[in-house]
Amino acid sequence: MVLSPPDHPLPRLLAGRLPDPDGGGMLSVRTRRVAIGTGLAAEAPALIGSLDLPAPHALVADPATWAVLGDAVAAALRPSRAVVPVVFARPPHADDAAVAELCQRSAAAASLIAVGSGTINDLTRYTAKLTGRRYCVFGTALSMNGYASENAAITQGGHKRTLAAVAAEGVFLDLDVAAAAPPRLTCAGLGDSICRPTAQTDWLLSHLLLGTPYREAPFALLAADEPHLLAQSEGLARGDRAALACLARTLVLSGFGMAICGSSAPASQAEHLISHWLDMLADPARPPAFHGEQIAVTTLTVAALHEAVLAGPPPLPGPEPLDEATLVARYGDQLGRACWAEVARKRLDGPATAALAARLREDWPTIVARLRAVGRPTAELRAVLERAGAPTRPEDLGLDRATYRRAVLGAREIRDRFTVLDLAALAGRLEELAP
Ligand SMILES: [Zn+2]
Repeated sequence: MVLSPPDHPLPRLLAGRLPDPDGGGMLSVRTRRVAIGTGLAAEAPALIGSLDLPAPHALVADPATWAVLGDAVAAALRPSRAVVPVVFARPPHADDAAVAELCQRSAAAASLIAVGSGTINDLTRYTAKLTGRRYCVFGTALSMNGYASENAAITQGGHKRTLAAVAAEGVFLDLDVAAAAPPRLTCAGLGDSICRPTAQTDWLLSHLLLGTPYREAPFALLAADEPHLLAQSEGLARGDRAALACLARTLVLSGFGMAICGSSAPASQAEHLISHWLDMLADPARPPAFHGEQIAVTTLTVAALHEAVLAGPPPLPGPEPLDEATLVARYGDQLGRACWAEVARKRLDGPATAALAARLREDWPTIVARLRAVGRPTAELRAVLERAGAPTRPEDLGLDRATYRRAVLGAREIRDRFTVLDLAALAGRLEELAP
């Protein structure tokens, strides 16, 4: 059974009949079919048939995703279509060795079907790109917003890279399978969704203060589901199918928003920078946390930062205190220079700093009102996460307070995105406001 509320933007987007709120006709995405419902394995022949994917199909899975869904999809397809199972012996890393293995083992297949979420999906869509084949995905967990992504995070020669990949022609999310997944995965999906208010506030802040590009479209896609997702977060923990469907639509639409903008900007701002800092620089021996679990915690930090800055006087900027020597001293030669390259791109020179100060002096109440209109109170977001059983504090991620504070203070040093972290730092308030 496929669940799809009447008049939801998702079917209209897929049909190319959803107007672009930023002007310029209709929105469009490369994905042709999204099914969110129950019993999707049994419907696999019809779902694959509707995409007209050529057989034989390589069914790509790891032992766990094969057990929960891959085997059933294969059984449903086999009477009418040739299937080449490619089940990794153990959960693979998204690296060049796994890509090579997948290329070799799927060579006889004409199209690829991923059965899994993060890593399996990244490996499959990147392999599809390398080998010029089409692909779709059966998701096994509602843990991240990358189902509709056209990029893949692959480690090549030890370096994690974001590489161009193929968009899934079909995204099929079975809610019975998602309900049976470990609850931490669903909490991670909620965490990667609940940053919509902080990401939009930061992206709009950069637009209003510096004139960087900004679009309403990605947020218009999410508006119908967000109130229900936040109100029903407790249902996610219980496996409530309506709540899970709401999360599934949010994750898919968040990915479409990024694809439409050609950038992760609508779903990744200061809260993601803090998380990326932790991935790069915190003790690798700390307890493992999913990306979305980190985002749950960092979103609360950034929401509180937004509240504090917007409640105060105009945060008038002083000169950028960071320079290349400081960053090299802090991070070493290679990473320090890479960080400086990022900071230099957003660094405001004297005239730009003066122009920003003038804008803040003249328009601060208007800017505050525009930003508050797209945010949500920290207390509300915290309550939503608590009801779902998601992490809300650094300790919930196994992080000590000193490490977390270094991440909040250092996050603006690793990426060229201008966020509230930069605004607070330039105004001399970040040290005081960071937890
Ligand atoms: Zn994310």
